[in-house]
Amino acid sequence: MRLGEHKFSFYKSLLFDNALDFSGRSSFMKEIMLEKIYPTRIILPMKQHYGSPCIPVVKKGDHVLIGQCVGMPPEGSLGAPVHSGISGNVTDIRQIELPDTTKCEAVFISSDRKRTHHPSIRPRSDFNVSATNVTGMIKEAGIVGMGGEGIPTWAKITRARKSGVDCILVNCLQSEPYATSDLLRITDYADYLIMGAVALAGAVGVTIIECLISEKKTTEITALQSAMERTQSRYSGYAFNIRYFKERFPQGYYRLVAKALWDKNLEPGQTLEETCKAVMFNCSTVYACWEAIADGMPLVSRIITVTGNDNDGHNVLAPIGTPVSEILNSINGRSETMDRIILGNALTGIALKDPDNIPVMKTTPAVTVIRDMEGVSSHCMHCGSCSRACPMEIYPSVLKQLIDRGMNEKAENEGIGKCIACGACSYVCPSRIDLTPTIAGYVASTAKRTPASFTSSVINESIDIGSVSLLERYNEEEEDKISDDKDTILLPFEGGKRV
Ligand code: SF4
Ligand code: SF4
Repeated sequence: MRLGEHKFSFYKSLLFDNALDFSGRSSFMKEIMLEKIYPTRIILPMKQHYGSPCIPVVKKGDHVLIGQCVGMPPEGSLGAPVHSGISGNVTDIRQIELPDTTKCEAVFISSDRKRTHHPSIRPRSDFNVSATNVTGMIKEAGIVGMGGEGIPTWAKITRARKSGVDCILVNCLQSEPYATSDLLRITDYADYLIMGAVALAGAVGVTIIECLISEKKTTEITALQSAMERTQSRYSGYAFNIRYFKERFPQGYYRLVAKALWDKNLEPGQTLEETCKAVMFNCSTVYACWEAIADGMPLVSRIITVTGNDNDGHNVLAPIGTPVSEILNSINGRSETMDRIILGNALTGIALKDPDNIPVMKTTPAVTVIRDMEGVSSHCMHCGSCSRACPMEIYPSVLKQLIDRGMNEKAENEGIGKCIACGACSYVCPSRIDLTPTIAGYVASTAKRTPASFTSSVINESIDIGSVSLLERYNEEEEDKISDDKDTILLPFEGGKRV
């Protein structure tokens, strides 16, 4: 499906400008300061991805190193292994409850402060790798969709191959107010990003790479263009394009991308791969893929935006599993009281009660601290703001009333299943009615109909999405036969992460 040369978007939803800033700063202020966090301990939940939880492969008292695997998914299941981002001792393995009420085992590791890497972590010198090699490396590295969904990336690659997609989309459309973690990856690590895109395109078996970004992100666009120019000479067989979008929230969600690029309305259960012949990867995920291939480093850390009312806004590079309290304590200006701490972005994140025992995970792009909202909700004044804001073009106020009255069937007829839990309706309501938990919560509770969600809060066990299931097993023997010939890809790389 060919794309034209215009600016893309969908209708409705939120057009952020400075008027919607609730912290006294621009909602798109660039929080580009990057600090590294070295936590004293980490907590690694065995379920940080879409699919089956991992099983711990370490025991209490074991000493582990950076990059060492501590949890493996059950044989033949959809999942992604979990690795340690610090060196230290396993102090406990027990069940925890995550903010979205998911219960799973977690491995607790106390740092030895030595930051010792596992001997298997070393840069790759031979980049003559096959599509199978790339997929296998990504699988072993535990890489999942870091934009919120947490779908294991190897499974997405496999499904894309089987669906016969034409191109890969690199999702650089970080549109939540305050969140800038993906934008920092683009500006500071554009070479890694583009190399990751080449590797993923090779693994999927396509040569067209489309980067999707807001037209207003001029610094990031320049970084992408420069990296593409540097890469193009070595990969003349690949076509690199940038597709410009209007700046809207929540532009990066796959169903809205399908609407914007191809004017397709994906129903719950329909996939980009099958319907639009494209597969989309978040830009931080793409970066992580190249880090795994070039440096041999599994997914053990990520950039997290830490922002809110009372601090200046930071981007931190933290080991996955760092307790939220350790991240907040490392930043000056945090108010200890009156704060509502949200795991995730301001609109789509989930409020935390116990930041000492809840960690940032593979799918956590931000930690947001906002002053608890003042005032209480009042009655609906039928202003229509929530309907105007809803990107899925459903009627949030009506749906909430139907669910509150137990009229679930009517709510389904009114399209409640389309809700993507974006939070826009709650955000705009002048009566302070929190519509999203009721609507998105109902969708999440109906497991059969739950779509691959926009937020990590709706991770569930329903993994058969579309006719090509994510459970299609990655068959190494079968793929090896393919990789012997036309799918062999060469990935020369000259090193150097920062642009
Ligand atoms: S949370 Fe659901 S109902 Fe509310 S605006 Fe987003 S998609 Fe619409
Ligand atoms: S935005 Fe709030 S007050 Fe306005 S119609 Fe929706 S629920 Fe009612």
